[in-house]
Amino acid sequence: MPESFTVLHDAPLAGANTLRVAATAQRLATVNDPDALPSLLESSEFRDLPLLVLGEGSNILFAGDFAGLVLRPAWRSVRIVEDDGSSALVRAAAGYGWDALVDWALAQGLGGLENLALIPGHVGAAPIQNIGAYGVEVRESITAVEAWDRSQARLVRLGADECGFGYRDSRFKREPERWIVTAVEFRLQRGRDPVLDYAGVREELAAMGHSNPTPAQVAQAVRRLRRRKLPDPAAIGNAGSFFKNPVVPSARAEELRAANPSLAVYPASAGSSKLSAAWLIEACGWKGFREGDAGISAQHALVLVNHGHASGAQLLDVARRVAASVEQRFGVRLEPEPRIVGAVF
Ligand SMILES: Cc1cc2nc3c(=O)[nH]c(=O)nc-3n(C[C@H](O)[C@H](O)[C@H](O)COP(=O)(O)OP(=O)(O)OC[C@H]3O[C@@H](n4cnc5c(N)ncnc54)[C@H](O)[C@@H]3O)c2cc1C
Repeated sequence: MPESFTVLHDAPLAGANTLRVAATAQRLATVNDPDALPSLLESSEFRDLPLLVLGEGSNILFAGDFAGLVLRPAWRSVRIVEDDGSSALVRAAAGYGWDALVDWALAQGLGGLENLALIPGHVGAAPIQNIGAYGVEVRESITAVEAWDRSQARLVRLGADECGFGYRDSRFKREPERWIVTAVEFRLQRGRDPVLDYAGVREELAAMGHSNPTPAQVAQAVRRLRRRKLPDPAAIGNAGSFFKNPVVPSARAEELRAANPSLAVYPASAGSSKLSAAWLIEACGWKGFREGDAGISAQHALVLVNHGHASGAQLLDVARRVAASVEQRFGVRLEPEPRIVGAVF
C-alpha cells in the first residue's frame, strides 16, 4: 500500500503544468486516498494555508509561485456501478486520466464520451469547466459529482442539476477554494446515436471510410482532427484554448457579422450568440505572434504558447494584450478559459 499522502516543500511545478511555467508550491501534497483528506486539511501544518487543487495542470496558468498547499488527487479507479444492458452508471475517481476513461468506456461498449477523446487532464477536473468539444459537453453524461466540501468539512454528492454547469463553467469553477472533487458518476449508453454534425467530424469519418460509425470510430476521428488542429503540449507548452468564445446578444452578433462576413457565429442560449474567439484574435493579427518565448500558436489563434522558458507573467502579458486589442477593435471582451493563479486577468 502506498502512503496515503506525501508532501514536498518548495516543490517545482514546471513539470506539473502543460504551459511548462516554472513556479513553485510552498507545499505540494500528492494524496493517494480520499479518506486522508480530513486529517490532511485539518492538520495544523496545512489548516491555514491557501489551497489549490491540481490535476494534470492542463488548464492553469501560474502567474507566480503559489504560497500555499497544492493538493494533487492521485487516487485512480473506475467501475460500473449498475448496468441495465442499454446503459450503465460508471463511477471514476478524480485522479483517473480523462482520455483513459474515454478508452475504458469504449472498451465496455459504452458511448457518450467519444467526442471528448484526447482532452488532456484528470476525471476530477472534467466537471470544473464542464469540458466540451466537437458538439458535446461532459454535463450531458454526468449524473453526480462527489466532492469534499471544505465549507462543511464533509463529503457531499451533488446531482448534475446542483453543479451549476454552463459553457466552460460550473459552481466548482466559481468557488475554487471550496471543493475538492473526489469522484464523478456518468450515465453512458449502448447503441446511442453518435453526434457527428460538428467541426468536420462527419467528413473525417467519411475520409476514414465509415458512413455508419461506432463510438470507437468517432473517438478515432476526433483524435485525428485534434492532432492536426491543436499543438501538442508534449512538443510546445500550451493549455489548449486560452479564451472562451464570447457570448453576446444576438443583435450585436448580427451587427458584427454584417461588418465582418467571415466571422463565425454560433447559437447560444435564447437571445444570445457565441462568436469565434479564434476568428477575432486572428483578425487582430496575433496568430503566430512571438515575443521572447511567449506567443500565440501559428497553428491555432486561440492557443497561448510557451516556446521554452517564458514566465507566467510574460504569458499573461501577451494574453492581456490580445484581449485588449480584440476589445478595442470589436468591442468584445475575451475571458480566459484556464485558471490564472497569482494574478487577476
Ligand atoms: C492541448 C489541450 C487541449 C485542450 N482541449 C480542451 C477541449 O477541447 N475542451 C475543454 O473543455 N478543455 C480542453 N483543454 C483544457 C483542459 O484539458 C481541461 O480543462 C481539463 O479538464 C483540465 O484537467 P486537468 O486535470 O489538467 O486540470 P488542471 O489544469 O490541473 O486544473 C484545472 C482547474 O480545475 C481545478 N481542479 C482540478 N482537479 C480538481 C479536483 N479534483 N477538484 C477540484 N478542483 C479541481 C483546478 O484547481 C483548476 O482550477 C485542453 C488543454 C490542452 C492542453
